Amino acid sequence: MRLLISNDDGIFSPGLALLARVAQKHGDVVVVAPDNENSSASHSISSSRPLSYRRAPFAEGIEAYRVNGTPADCVALGMFHHGDVGLVLSGVNNGPNLGNAIWHSGTMAAARQAALLGARGIAFSTPSTGDDARLEALAGHVEKVLDLLFPRTEIRLANVNVPPNPRGIQWVRQAVEKYDGEVVPANDPYGRPIYWLTVTQLKEHREGTDLWAFERGYISITPLTLDITSDEALQTMSEDERLIEFAEHPAAVEPVVAEAVMREAESAGN
Ligand code: MN
Repeated sequence: MRLLISNDDGIFSPGLALLARVAQKHGDVVVVAPDNENSSASHSISSSRPLSYRRAPFAEGIEAYRVNGTPADCVALGMFHHGDVGLVLSGVNNGPNLGNAIWHSGTMAAARQAALLGARGIAFSTPSTGDDARLEALAGHVEKVLDLLFPRTEIRLANVNVPPNPRGIQWVRQAVEKYDGEVVPANDPYGRPIYWLTVTQLKEHREGTDLWAFERGYISITPLTLDITSDEALQTMSEDERLIEFAEHPAAVEPVVAEAVMREAESAGN
């Protein structure tokens, strides 16, 4: 089976090289990554411009391509060129992706794109470090997690965060707590107002969540679903309210018309 390795930090990220090297144990590896940093790009795709797919120099024996697009673009193009991709590994991201960060994360989006296209996706993240020794230790931990997850084909999408010197592995849920984003106003060199969108670490975390496990020194693994429908809200709508048909509507919409309308709605939505 082929494994596609991507990230949001760009083709030259040390975490990407590390992940590609570790992944070789489980199959043929191809790297497809953005040609520059796309952190916090989330699941955006480049629908208004064409993309390039160019061979990139990489570690010996590893085929690699760079794309002038987002992490989700990279996975779409990689899977287009390599029809036998069964698993996409994303990362290892330079910085953790815990709790609400999952929404902004480009690392997570690459893994999610894989799941949307019928493959499996696993995202790996770790706190930033310039320390080579810790990067080397990280390889061992990524390998452990990959050995654990690789045979579990029922897990289609997962988010993994590796703290420094982890004491174990915990399966936990995504923390959905008070939003941890913050807007910090400042001034540019001309005195004009500018704003930084930052993330602040929350202090208290609910037991059993990714943030809770991570701050206790555990590698957190969160299995994720693609369907974000609120079953609870759907359930609370009574049968009467769940389908409301307009009496004044002239006739059932022709299926062909309905399809065209859907296509238009989808492209407008993008
Ligand atoms: Mn990143």
